[in-house]
Amino acid sequence: MAYKHRKYPEWSWSLSRDRLFQTCLRKYYYQYYKSHNGWEWDAPEEKKKTYRLKKLESLDSVLGSSVHHLLHRIIDEGLSLSRTNLDKNIKKNLNDAVLESKNKSAWEMSPTKHTMLKDIYYDGQLSLSKIDFIKYKKDKIINYLLNTDIIENIKNSFYVKSFDINTFESFDYKGTKVYAIPDLIFKKGKNKKPHIIDWKTGQEKNSNLNQLKLYVYYYYQNNEYTGETETSFIYLYEQKCKKQLFNYKIVPEVENAIEDSLKNMKKYLKDEKWNIPLREEEFTRRKNDKVCSYCKYRKICERD
Ligand code: SF4
Repeated sequence: MAYKHRKYPEWSWSLSRDRLFQTCLRKYYYQYYKSHNGWEWDAPEEKKKTYRLKKLESLDSVLGSSVHHLLHRIIDEGLSLSRTNLDKNIKKNLNDAVLESKNKSAWEMSPTKHTMLKDIYYDGQLSLSKIDFIKYKKDKIINYLLNTDIIENIKNSFYVKSFDINTFESFDYKGTKVYAIPDLIFKKGKNKKPHIIDWKTGQEKNSNLNQLKLYVYYYYQNNEYTGETETSFIYLYEQKCKKQLFNYKIVPEVENAIEDSLKNMKKYLKDEKWNIPLREEEFTRRKNDKVCSYCKYRKICERD
């Protein structure tokens, strides 16, 4: 599809947008408004700079994307689940990210095509403890995948839909595009209940439960089904699986949560039709704290 310039960003909602909105309004503004069009060659320098910062990655996120993509290839494309395949591909992605991060000018020219790690951008290097930890994390994830029958079980299922990274599946919620896709949906038999899987390479968090509810809601919206839905968070690094059963009663609960969140976000719009935000000053900064010390926008934020 041909690129179409949009003066203002498209209005949308996602759980990560909601989390960012609650974490820091200024960060939310940078991420969803100020960086918009910052990829265009003739964009104002301020927008370009914000867009570049938006594209900064962490080594953890590179590892996470790599594992997710490989799991998709194993389930969807038949790539064999072997230590060599996993180790070789993940190592390559991590090494490429580190190497690319050393070429700042290439990244500045094209931040979409090149990777820049946040640690290298801000500190000039990756600490040895960080490198050791990522290696340890990688090995733990690989060991877990090879020593459980999770993948085999999924592959022998009746219906499998695996979503690759960068699949921007969405559904409409009263005129708002909602992004909510699980990693995988499968059934053990034609009339068996659906099972939704989300791979996690990080640690367990309380807020994750809302993510599962949203995925279940997504399933109900896209299928003529109102029965129970099983869900699992598979914590690959922590080597555990958390299952939870949901029923159709979550539908109003999820809708109320989306409504509330949308209502709060819209308070920061000057124009709802075109998604024009209020002035930057209205998006207040957090107080200087731990969240700020690893925020990717700290270079432009100029907080006290
Ligand atoms: S540095 Fe702190 S105040 Fe500034 S955008 Fe980031 S989180 Fe918000």
